[in-house]
This record gives sequence, structure tokens and C-alpha cells, in this order.
Amino acid sequence: MLEQLELLEKEALVALEALEDSDALDAWYKQVLGKKGTLTLMLRSVGELPREERPAFGRASNELKTKLEAAFEARAKSLRQADMVRELERGALDVTLPGRPIGPGHLHITTQTLRQIYAIFAEMGFQVYEAPEVDTDELNFGLLNMPPHHPARDMWDTFWISDEVLLRTHTSPGQIRAMREFCPEPIRVILPGKCYRYEHITARSEHQFYQVEGLAVGHGITMTDLIGTLTEFARRFYGPDRRIRIRGSYFPFTEPSIEVDMDCILCDGEGCRVCKGSGWLEIAGAGMVHPVVLQNGGYDPDEWSGFAFGPGVERPAMLKYRIDDIRLFYGNDLRFLRQF
Ligand SMILES: [Zn+2]
Repeated sequence: MLEQLELLEKEALVALEALEDSDALDAWYKQVLGKKGTLTLMLRSVGELPREERPAFGRASNELKTKLEAAFEARAKSLRQADMVRELERGALDVTLPGRPIGPGHLHITTQTLRQIYAIFAEMGFQVYEAPEVDTDELNFGLLNMPPHHPARDMWDTFWISDEVLLRTHTSPGQIRAMREFCPEPIRVILPGKCYRYEHITARSEHQFYQVEGLAVGHGITMTDLIGTLTEFARRFYGPDRRIRIRGSYFPFTEPSIEVDMDCILCDGEGCRVCKGSGWLEIAGAGMVHPVVLQNGGYDPDEWSGFAFGPGVERPAMLKYRIDDIRLFYGNDLRFLRQF
């Protein structure tokens, strides 16, 4: 029996050394030291031996068990080490490889559109005037001829921060800020920036969007100046042959108020799906600055007059590039953004 133990020891140690990875360790353990392993079975068979051989065999097999267990632990440790080394080598960085180039980014389509609009109006003498996105009820509504409880306030679903403070629903509070800053000088500014409305998000409306509006205040400014300015804008932005028309409208801060339409750029006025068969596309709301607003800005409406207009930012881009879903602008999908 003792020879069998010796044989088992030799075989088991050779097999252990031959294992190639830690996955094979378990199988070895099961085979030798497990419940039905060779050594375990031999230990159990001690009762079959003649009585005088039992102590020597018992001692020898227990010693072998301890020895094999120690060998197993040592082997397991070295295999784990080898696994780790292999893993590291597989994922190793080759520092001599050339880096992957990072392509230059480009401006977002909204920024590009805004800059085109800035450039067009800059050539007509308008400067950019930036105003805060968080503003007061007074500037966003009250001073724009919408006192508390004025029904026109319902046109703008508002994110309120407190009873007095809100996220601006339009860029128009900048009109009051600009007038108060420049008064009593004449003004030509465009007011760009983000606006917020508590709105359901659809293909046509987002709760966050850009607006850009223009404001001119001076002596003897008339509706003709407004129409001329917007015609010039339409021709420079959408193409030299564009025609515009105006319709009566209502905004609390302009009087009279108009909607400005341009002949459809897709069908040249013939009528198509985009213009809903009318041949015209709405491109801006506009009007002559309301006397109350002029007054709130510090200008005497008997001496001064002015016009204001808001062509939007995403909408011109949507028309120009035939984008049919405003949600694409801020979805951060590079497949969309890289096209512009
Ligand atoms: Zn059309």
C-alpha cells in the first residue's frame, strides 16, 4: 500500500506541474483530493488493511495529503500569476504605435446659423447685445406691456424659479435692457440667446431653443424700414430672389404687429408639402415697438419710434437645410451634427 501512495504522489505532482492554466486546477483537485479523489478513496480503504499496517499507512497518507494540498496551493498561486502576466501582455500598450488622430470638431449648426444671422445684420449696422437667460417677471413680461394677469402671458408657458424670477421665454427682455443702457442714443441691436418654455417636446417645439431678435430705435423709423430690413435679411440668408409678404398679427410689445412670410424656398411659391400648399413660409414675427415699451425703455414715444423682429434660429436652419425635426438639434447625435 505504501508503494501505491508513492506512486500516487509522483503521478499527482507530475500532473499538477503539467497544468497549463488555473481552469485545469479544479479538475486536478477533484481528481486527487476531492471527495471521490484517488487519495481520499485510499484513505477510506485503510480499514481493509491488516491491523499492524494501518498506523504507518494512515500517517503516510495524511502526510501526503498535506503535501499535495501545499503543492496545490503553490501551483495555484503561480498559475494565477501567469494568467495575470498573460492578461497584461494581451492588453499591453505599444507605446511606439502612432496615436489615433482626433479630428477637428466644428461649430454646432445653431452657432453657425446664429453667426450667419449676426453677419447679415452686422452689415446693416446692428450690433450683438447679450442679455441674461434668467430674468425677472418684470423684464420678461411687465415692461413689455404685459402686466400681471394680462391674458397674453398665456402665450408663453413659463419655467418659474420664484414668483419674481423665471427662465426667459423669449429674448425680448433684452429690448428693455438695451434701451435702458443706450438711451438717449438711437439703437440697432440684435439679441440672441437661449429661451425656455414649459412645452411638450415635439418635432416642431423644444423646451429649450434659440431666438434672435432685432431692435431698432431712432427718429422717424417706420414700417417701411422694417419691411426693407427683413427683405434684405431674407435675400441674404435664403437666396437673392426671395420675396416677402406681411400679414397683420398681434404681439403685446409691438403695435402694429405683423407676421412676415417668404415665398417657399422649396417650391418657389408653387405650393408644396412644407408650405402646406400655400407657397409661403412664415419667417418672422415683427412690428413697430409699442409706445409703452419705448417709454419703459426710457424713450419718449412722441419723439422716437422703432421696430422689432424675431426670425428665430432653428427655424431658418430647418428651412435652409430641410431639417424636419427640431429635436435633432439638441439630441447630440453626431450623425446629424456632422452633416453641417
Ligand atoms: Zn412650398
